[in-house]
This record gives sequence, C-alpha cells and structure tokens, in this order.
Amino acid sequence: MCAAIYAARNGAKVTIIEKNTVLGKKLSMTGNGRCNLTNLDMREECYNIAARGRMKEWLSTYGVEDVISFFKSLGVVVKSEDGYIYPVSGQASTVVRALENEISRLGIEVVYGQQLKGVSAEDEGVYEVKTDKDSFTCDAVILAVGSLSGAKSTMSTGDGYYICKKLGMNVKDTYPALVGFKCDPQEQMPKAGVRITADISFVLGKETLAREQGELQLTADGISGIPVMQASRDVIRFVEEKKPVYAVIDFFPDYDDKDFESLKADMLKLKDDRTLEEFLQGFSNSNITEMVLSRMKLSKSMKMKNISSSMAECILDNYRALRLKIDESYGYMASQVTTGGVSLGDIGSDFAYKKAPGIFCIGELVDVDGRCGGYNLQWAFTSGSIAGTAASL
Ligand SMILES: Cc1cc2nc3c(=O)[nH]c(=O)nc-3n(C[C@H](O)[C@H](O)[C@H](O)COP(=O)(O)OP(=O)(O)OC[C@H]3O[C@@H](n4cnc5c(N)ncnc54)[C@H](O)[C@@H]3O)c2cc1C
Repeated sequence: MCAAIYAARNGAKVTIIEKNTVLGKKLSMTGNGRCNLTNLDMREECYNIAARGRMKEWLSTYGVEDVISFFKSLGVVVKSEDGYIYPVSGQASTVVRALENEISRLGIEVVYGQQLKGVSAEDEGVYEVKTDKDSFTCDAVILAVGSLSGAKSTMSTGDGYYICKKLGMNVKDTYPALVGFKCDPQEQMPKAGVRITADISFVLGKETLAREQGELQLTADGISGIPVMQASRDVIRFVEEKKPVYAVIDFFPDYDDKDFESLKADMLKLKDDRTLEEFLQGFSNSNITEMVLSRMKLSKSMKMKNISSSMAECILDNYRALRLKIDESYGYMASQVTTGGVSLGDIGSDFAYKKAPGIFCIGELVDVDGRCGGYNLQWAFTSGSIAGTAASL
C-alpha cells in the first residue's frame, strides 16, 4: 500500500493485486490492534545481522521522521509511548482506512481476490504478471506479498518465496521469529499462567545465544512474552535444528550476585519451625514456587528446620537460574515475523532485482527482520517508499 501510494504520487498508473478480500489485514492486527508504526530508537542493530550493513543507508533515506510525516500527510496523528510510535486513535484499523482512502484518492486500482502466481520478463522492460484468474502487463512490478507469519486470515502463505525462486533469486531459509517456545513435555510448568518480570537467557552448551529482560509469560506448555519474542530471532535456528537449547530464567533481575547472596542469607535466618510453603510465601509468585517445589519433588508442608541450609540455598538458587529445555516454537501462525527470505545480495539499494531491474522486492519477503517494537513496519514503509518511488521513474 505504501509502495503503491509513493508510485502513484510520483505519477505512475498503479494496480494493486491482493489475494485477500480486504487490504491490510495483517496491518489491522498489529500492535495488539493498536499498530506500533515505528520507534524513535531506530538503529541498524535492531535488525538481523545480514541486513545491518545496508540498514543505515536505507534508514537515512527514509527513517522514523519520514514515516511520521507520511502518516501526517494521510491525516493520521501519532504519539510516542516511551519512543514506541502509535496512532493517537489507538486503532490499527484507522491506519488501514487512511491508507485505503489515499489509494482511492490517487485512483489506484485494487484487484481483490486474485493470487499472484508468477512474473515473467517479456520484451525489454516489459513484465507479465500472472494471477490465478488473469494476467497483467506492466513496466514495473513490486513484490510486496509478505511472509509466512501471522494468523490464517492474513493469507501469509509464503507465495513470494516460490515466485522469487522461479525468477532466479536466492531465497534464504525461513523460520518463524518474534515467537514463543514450547518447553520439553518432560518439564514441569506452572499449572496456572504466570506473568512476571524476569531476565531470560537462551543457552546452547556454554554459549549464550540471547539474553533479554521484561515481562515473561509462563504457561502450562511453554514460555512467551516480549523478552522471549525478542530473543527468538537469535535462537530459532538452533531450536529448529533440534539442538539442546535451554532457557535460563532469573526471577530476581534487579539483584546482582552480591545482593542475591545477601537476600539468601536473610532468608536462611527464617529457617525455623515454619513450613517450606510459609518460608517461600513472600519470596516470589506462588505459581512459580509451586513449580519450583514440584520440580525438586519437595512437599510444601516440610518443616524448614528439617531442611539443611545447603538444600534451602539450592531451593532459592532455583529462582535465580531456572532451566527449561526448549522443544519447539509455537510456529509461523503464532509468529509476528519471518526471518530469512529474498537475499539482500540480489537486490539493489532501490530494491530492484539486479537481474531484472523492473522487479522490486520489499517488506517481509526480503531477508530483513527487526526487533519487536515498530521495527518491522518501519522496514515495510522504508522499503515500500523507496521502491515505489524508484518503480515510477
Ligand atoms: C500479530 C502481529 C502483530 C504485529 N505487530 C507489529 C507491530 O505492532 N509493529 C511492527 O512493526 N510490526 C508488527 N508486526 C509485523 C508486521 O505486521 C509485518 O512485518 C508487516 O505487515 C509486513 O508487511 P508486508 O507488506 O511485507 O507484508 P503483509 O503485511 O503480510 O502484506 C502482504 C500482502 O500481500 C498479500 N498477498 C500475499 N500473497 C499474495 C499473492 N500470492 N497474491 C496477491 N496478494 C498476496 C497478503 O494478503 C497481504 O495483504 C506484527 C505481525 C503480526 C502477525
């Protein structure tokens, strides 16, 4: 939609071919329905390693302020929440409507319910776009067909990867990212869901693959929440390759080692005739405590005076470094982005395919993925605006 608007504003006659019955289905679901458009803390490090070298140039061509001005030009007022940019309306649907209004104002034709099947180069600079129902001739094609991530209704079936491979592009292996993980079924998880601030590291042998802090969600079968999603981009490949990846959770992220030792020493002073349950009552979330004790096969009615100091310390240490074996991710449908896709080596700085400069690849189809927090929509708008303008020249 963004690419179409930029191309049409630059004088091109534009047609959008949309497989769905509506435009912007995924966009309308972003940010929990509030649409986190971009982020004031915009740095190339917020994107995958393969993209970082080129992100600086792209973001300096079309950055955060450009996204904000673009939406201002559509009448969408935005606000910052700690640097996270949202529409003031608090409704992603208003963003979609504003884009649709501009599309119709610019006279862009929208063909609904047709699935792009392939693109072929005809004569010099002429391309044929084939759908399941029709074919179109044009002098530039922008492939903006997204990825494999998102609910069924978003129609994210990864068609673009197949189409691009047929055109000779190198497509990097794809994995779901910004996603939660199921834990090994042998792991004892909390019976009721828990949301708690924690520090989480993902380790493979001695290597730490990723480390994040924030509100963690533990459920009966796995872990999710923002810190897990952020870390997932660096962890997913190893999980998919069935490597033994563990999550190590610290429920006391604000305590350094010295503070935690002194906290433990204070706790051990309470080793009297109270029960284990009473001892741990105010130490952490009760569902976490239940989980820790059942994993250690300890009864909560045990008297603290009958538990050795080293065992009591060991119980407390579990809250500092609880290890959970990761089994698999919750999959593409539960993920917010797909990592992998069309290799950046195949596209120029204006997103044109190097072997056929009238074909452009943008958005999530390309091997670029960002952290959670507006970085993926920024990428869609950055690549869309640059390609839209270039395609219209
Ligand atoms: C639940 C959820 C929440 C998210 N929240 C945020 C957020 O708050 N902030 C953020 O930055 N990012 C967020 N993201 C990620 C962001 O939505 C995507 O990165 C972004 O939408 C990608 O844009 P795109 O244009 O490349 O692809 P899409 O938005 O997926 O658009 C692709 C379009 O192509 C159409 N299409 C697909 N195949 C074909 C075909 N063969 N023929 C014709 N049409 C086709 C699809 O129907 C779709 O309309 C979220 C993602 C999800 C799933």
